[in-house]
Amino acid sequence: MNTTAEKLSSEELVQLESKHGAHNYHPLEVVLSRGEGVHVWDVEGKRYYDFLSAYSAVNQGHCHPKIVAAMIDQAKILTLTSRAFYNDALGPYEKFVTEYFGYDKVLPMNTGAEAVETAIKLCRKWAYEVKGISEDSAKIIVCNGNFHGRTTTIVSFSDDANAKDNFGPFTPGFIRIPYNDTAALEEALKQDNVAGFLVEPIQGEAGVFVPDEGYLATAKSLCNAAGALFIADEVQTGIARTGKLLAVDYEDAKPDIVILGKAISGGAYPVSAVLANDEIMMVIKPGQHGSTFGGNPVAAKVAIAALEVVTDEKLAENAFRLGNIFRAEMNRIIEKTDLVLKVRGKGLLNAIIINDSEDSDTAWNLCVAMKENGLLAKPTHGNIIRFAPPLVMTEEQLMDCVGIIEKTLMNFVK
Ligand SMILES: *Cc1c(COP(=O)(O)O)cnc(C)c1O
Repeated sequence: MNTTAEKLSSEELVQLESKHGAHNYHPLEVVLSRGEGVHVWDVEGKRYYDFLSAYSAVNQGHCHPKIVAAMIDQAKILTLTSRAFYNDALGPYEKFVTEYFGYDKVLPMNTGAEAVETAIKLCRKWAYEVKGISEDSAKIIVCNGNFHGRTTTIVSFSDDANAKDNFGPFTPGFIRIPYNDTAALEEALKQDNVAGFLVEPIQGEAGVFVPDEGYLATAKSLCNAAGALFIADEVQTGIARTGKLLAVDYEDAKPDIVILGKAISGGAYPVSAVLANDEIMMVIKPGQHGSTFGGNPVAAKVAIAALEVVTDEKLAENAFRLGNIFRAEMNRIIEKTDLVLKVRGKGLLNAIIINDSEDSDTAWNLCVAMKENGLLAKPTHGNIIRFAPPLVMTEEQLMDCVGIIEKTLMNFVK
């Protein structure tokens, strides 16, 4: 048995995970042991730029001192009461977060998937009790290529075979339409008993698909006209990632329900939230939904600190500005190499499309080569590499990273 005093090598740690952990992930072979700001260090002490930010959970940078301090301070006083009793951190957080995003009420949960589940339950209950749909007939429209999490209901409406095969039977009540297709949405909204439309403002997991300008605003007004709720899953796109506080803020498209997770805690703690106005949120009564850890005092303090950092450090503005520079630089590199077809994204949520088949390992091998050169990114859906650094990055650091990406692409042999 290894004691904690004995330091394990990266190789040994990878073997431990392989032997004792379920194989539900396929990580890049790097074992991290420390993080600060835009950087992470592996067990052997090598430093990397983090260009994934834990799938956009670490927008505020690793181990942000203000967020860590809020967590430690609260952890010493009171960590969990459950919602059987009140605690002195939840009310102030609820006031803060609802004012921050402009909604009457928040329902606090822990993970993104739980918040999506909450939004689905809320939408259905609203449909029965306010809209007056007949029992058990509510339908929610979703999009091809969606990613909303991993629960049985959520994978029920996924079209990713990997995510859903052999996990059935599936939850009924969903209509899937093409993404970025307002005509398809208009048609689907004509069906009976449609309760809402659940959509990612940019499809992150699918490969950073940015819909046409106006898509979200049109979707919202079509939903409004049809008496269906417009529900935005901003778990990945929210909290300044795309250059605005929320990605829907680029358009006149304020959601009826907004779902937040990931960076609402700056990656320090599992915190998620569902926001809506009273007409919708008040359909949920005591005992009808909940979570033991949801709204715990540590989560409340961490989320306030994480959101204050976003405002204080102007992270949306920084993501907007650096995103434009990044895409311009990528386009400059694309001119010089056949390896990359295009770059797309908004703010600091971007992806490059590799010029190879979807089942090729070129994107993976490129990520391995970038890792060797000191930058960590991960392919998503075969030949697409997502680039999403912490939003606390400086322009100088970004240009350093562009240099690493350029060098890797130019020296890469398939
Ligand atoms: C990550 C993600 C989720 C799920 O969040 P978890 O915390 O992993 O459950 C849901 N929706 C979107 C858009 C995401 O990116």
